[in-house]
Amino acid sequence: MKIAVHDRPKSSSRRRLASQVCAITAFAAFAVCFLLAPQWIRAQSSPPAGELRIYSIDVEGGQSTLLVAPSGESLLVDTGWPGNNGRDAERILAAMHDAGIKRIDHVLITHFHTDHVGGVPELVAKVEVGEFLDHGENREDAADTRNNYAIYMKAIAGHQRRIVHPGDTIPIDGLSVVVLTADGEHIGAVPGIQPMPNTYCASEHAWADDPTENSRSAGILVTFGKFKFLDLGDLTGKKEVALVCPNNPIGTVDLYLVTHHGMDLSNSRAIVDAVHPRVAIMNNGAHKAGMPAAWQIVHDSPGLIDLWQLHTAEGSDAAHNSPEWLIANPKGDGDGHALKVVALPDGSFSVTNTRTGMTKQYPRD
Ligand SMILES: [Zn+2]
Repeated sequence: MKIAVHDRPKSSSRRRLASQVCAITAFAAFAVCFLLAPQWIRAQSSPPAGELRIYSIDVEGGQSTLLVAPSGESLLVDTGWPGNNGRDAERILAAMHDAGIKRIDHVLITHFHTDHVGGVPELVAKVEVGEFLDHGENREDAADTRNNYAIYMKAIAGHQRRIVHPGDTIPIDGLSVVVLTADGEHIGAVPGIQPMPNTYCASEHAWADDPTENSRSAGILVTFGKFKFLDLGDLTGKKEVALVCPNNPIGTVDLYLVTHHGMDLSNSRAIVDAVHPRVAIMNNGAHKAGMPAAWQIVHDSPGLIDLWQLHTAEGSDAAHNSPEWLIANPKGDGDGHALKVVALPDGSFSVTNTRTGMTKQYPRD
């Protein structure tokens, strides 16, 4: 994976860099760049107190999300799939290289499905990990998942492992990382956030029980100054609604990782509308998830500016995919382009499509 990045412009070259970013885009994207360049320059005009970088790594329809705090301390949420000659570990390494880090301090496994935990053995073979965090033992009665759990436990032998519960924190210098959900339980209140009645609950439909590991996903809220990022793994509808109804303990967020890769078993309106994301990233595959109903709910959520995608959802249609400049991998599998977020403590952030090199800035609220 090649990652073209323009996240640390020096004052003397900001305007030139902005025009370079624009110059390498197609005509339609150029128009967007032209409109955004002044904002982008203005947002960078005071020296940042540090940046939080978030990489939505393309693991072809799984999850692997790398967060790197200004201190260099890091959290990897999930590890992608096994196999493919260590493809997903290599893509994680590419993101680490871009971020300038040599180890991962914390690895959070949201749940024990293959597209999240499967990459652990190949990761630990290549990368030093400080600790593993997960929701506790597998509870899904399925041979594949039991096998995933056994392979995981074997792979992390000798590493520190900590079981997380709702309300726990993951200590990372400069960030607040609060566990919202784990093992089917959820938090009632996040320190510093007043739970508010959620008006979207009244029109929410009933969701079925989900006996799979998805419903046990460990979900986190990451706060960096005024910037907030929500990642709930593959949490399914009934647990989403339980988390935010009748009171929403999360408040609103700047960036939402579209839950469950954009499957319509997740992304209830009651949660998506209540958390009111400014930008969403959907970690779908070319032929996995990115379902029209879920895409539409996220796309239509109040206040949403852009819905970025790791892939075109090729089983869907043009009306339920974002424009190509918002998609890291527009055609097929295998290219492995990531989406890179750079957030500042004032709540502003940018998203870079590493395929095109184009960066879009989202000013603070
Ligand atoms: Zn998944």
